Amino acid sequence: MAHSDDGTLWVAIIGAGPAGYYTAEALTAGEQDVRVDIIDRLPTPFGLIRAGVAPDHQSIKNVSRRYEATNQRDDVRFVGNLSLGRDVTLKELQELYDVVVLATGAAKDRPLGIDGEDLPGVIGSGPFVGWYNSHPDYADLDPDLRIASVAVIGNGNVAVDVARILAKTANEMASSDLAAHAADIIHKSSIKDVYILGRRGPLEAAFTPKELGELNRLENCVTLVDGNQLPDSSVDETLSGAQKKNMVALRAMAENSQGDKPVRLHIQFFRRPMAIIGEDCVCGIRLEETYVEDGKCFGTGKTEVLPAGLVVPCIGYRSSPLPDIPYDDRRGVYQNDEGLIAEGLYCVGWCRRGPTGTIGTNKPDGKGIAEKILAEVSASGRTGREGLDAIVAERDLQIVTFQDWKKIEAAEIDAAEGDAPRVKFSDLDQMVSIAEN
Ligand code: NAP
Repeated sequence: MAHSDDGTLWVAIIGAGPAGYYTAEALTAGEQDVRVDIIDRLPTPFGLIRAGVAPDHQSIKNVSRRYEATNQRDDVRFVGNLSLGRDVTLKELQELYDVVVLATGAAKDRPLGIDGEDLPGVIGSGPFVGWYNSHPDYADLDPDLRIASVAVIGNGNVAVDVARILAKTANEMASSDLAAHAADIIHKSSIKDVYILGRRGPLEAAFTPKELGELNRLENCVTLVDGNQLPDSSVDETLSGAQKKNMVALRAMAENSQGDKPVRLHIQFFRRPMAIIGEDCVCGIRLEETYVEDGKCFGTGKTEVLPAGLVVPCIGYRSSPLPDIPYDDRRGVYQNDEGLIAEGLYCVGWCRRGPTGTIGTNKPDGKGIAEKILAEVSASGRTGREGLDAIVAERDLQIVTFQDWKKIEAAEIDAAEGDAPRVKFSDLDQMVSIAEN
């Protein structure tokens, strides 16, 4: 169905993260009369920019200015504090809007699938990152960091983020927006050893050179790598640019000696998790030594137990299944054909393609889905925003608009001290009450 010009095309996007905003931007960039409501269960916009990007990576968070510009348009509205399923159903939205786009990300941790995974002290990267980033769902996590060592599983950028946040000093975090509740615990912790564990080798690692390189510039922590786990320079000419740069960083780390820094960060390759050990809580992790052939990892049968009082698996994410939405259980995404789930129902970002790429990857993703929608769906005289507002009034729901969010943001900036850009609130009632006044 081609788009007709005889009315407004009403689009509801669920999820106010990067994928949602890039989709809204692309949908409203042309001449067609398209109006978008970006709905989020939280009273705060920007999704992973706020709750996923590391608190000491403020420059990456600047991209939210672009989303803010999208929100200044009359044809785009942020509807915060409105939860799909709790406050309004998908069916209701489908009746009100010509198109519903799921941009709900991937909020569940991929399971490790080994014994001991459910022990207290095993905290997946979803909750752990959410905790130090003031996500309301995880503000009360309260991990016990009166421990000597931590095992961070995975060789991606999330593993690097988690290890770095645990290793940095209060001084190094002074210009960050690390959650106050997390700063209290992390900066009083007794952690001496942080391990980043990769099941494959340095050439297969998913972390990027810039993020890896930061680990060699920490105030109180030295990063240690076993040079025997690195390939010699004869392979360098066969490597990609990123691999080469990673090798430069890793070889520099292999030259480090402990010196007098009180914390050590060990990057260990060729170790796959076999079981998490402990009775009432985690006390270690059993690892098997591996080797890699044709990119695949195989166990050597040689195992060891690494003592650890906290295990943080950072091994990727899955989208949360939703009632009536077909789910691809293997990939952990909604079943879709290039973003199309069913007539008038689309998905974009991590819930479409899986948890890959950078924030910027969502830009072409959003543009692609917007083009597909505009080519496939016509305005059909639905009520859109007006209908949603009627439901909100009838159910006495307290939605948070973009102007309301700006009040919350101003209060967060106001509360900041020193070089910190803001104090991020995590209490939903507090945020809604600031928005109301
Ligand atoms: P990722 O890049 O996919 O890395 C996941 C890691 O977990 C891989 O090393 C993977 O190893 C390992 N893994 C998976 N299953 C495992 C298992 N059962 N046992 C042991 N290891 C296992 O995922 P991510 O770190 O969660 O990052 C998600 C995306 O966000 C990525 O695209 C990342 O670059 C991006 N991100 C970017 C930044 C930044 O730019 N600063 C920061 C954070 C995240 P195998 O390779 O062997 O499967």
